Amino acid sequence: MAKFCPNCGAELQDEQDICVKCGKMVKKNNNQASNNKNTLATTGFVIAIVSLFINYAGVVGLVATIISAIGLTKSKNYNGAGKGLAIAGLIIGIVSIIYGIYSITVLVDALNELSIITL
Ligand SMILES: [Zn+2]
Repeated sequence: MAKFCPNCGAELQDEQDICVKCGKMVKKNNNQASNNKNTLATTGFVIAIVSLFINYAGVVGLVATIISAIGLTKSKNYNGAGKGLAIAGLIIGIVSIIYGIYSITVLVDALNELSIITL
């Protein structure tokens, strides 16, 4: 059955990965590609980005750091796939934890000033 390039509409042979007319990679079912996907590293990185906005006193950053650390370990099984993302997630996660802890101390100070709680 004939396939057509999604970019330029040229007809493609079934075994073609790249369109000969425009050079675009043509998506096809490729088991090797999905085997090289490091989902944990990607997830950890995404949560790390989220933790920059929604941190919950460092809890989200902590989750991001743990998932990224596991993703970094797993990247060895995926020929290094996701290693950069995992390291980025790890660093951002740790920054989020530090910021989370800092925001707690600021909050506690503020509450102390208001004499709501005594620590
Ligand atoms: Zn094309």
